[in-house]
Amino acid sequence: MSPVDSILGLKDLVVQRVERRRDIHVWARPAKRAACVHCRQAPVRIKATHQRTLKHTRQGNQVMVLHLSVPKYHCTDCNRYFRHRFAGIRPRLRATEAYRLEVFEAHEGGVSQRRLTVTHKIGSATVER
Ligand SMILES: [Zn+2]
Repeated sequence: MSPVDSILGLKDLVVQRVERRRDIHVWARPAKRAACVHCRQAPVRIKATHQRTLKHTRQGNQVMVLHLSVPKYHCTDCNRYFRHRFAGIRPRLRATEAYRLEVFEAHEGGVSQRRLTVTHKIGSATVER
């Protein structure tokens, strides 16, 4: 396991690329194809892949930004389409569960919203959520 894999702490992801800029950018994709969510048949074929960008966690004062390849699958068995679902990442959110928890705990621990918007680079609306 490379250091980035353990930093990432998300299961079943393959890290493809890491760039350290002002923030740490990590590109990753699923380690394996999912079984069909409808009929549980495998294998499915990849119809398309799109990318999600998520704030994941902080390393010191750097935010780790996760660029995730999300395959859209087609099940040849039941002829339906679905997207890959990741453990620890809810659909449609722009931050991972780990990141949300970090923000929540910092806020509970008395870190002000104003401070969090600086350290975690998020809007105050996100802190309230
Ligand atoms: Zn199916």
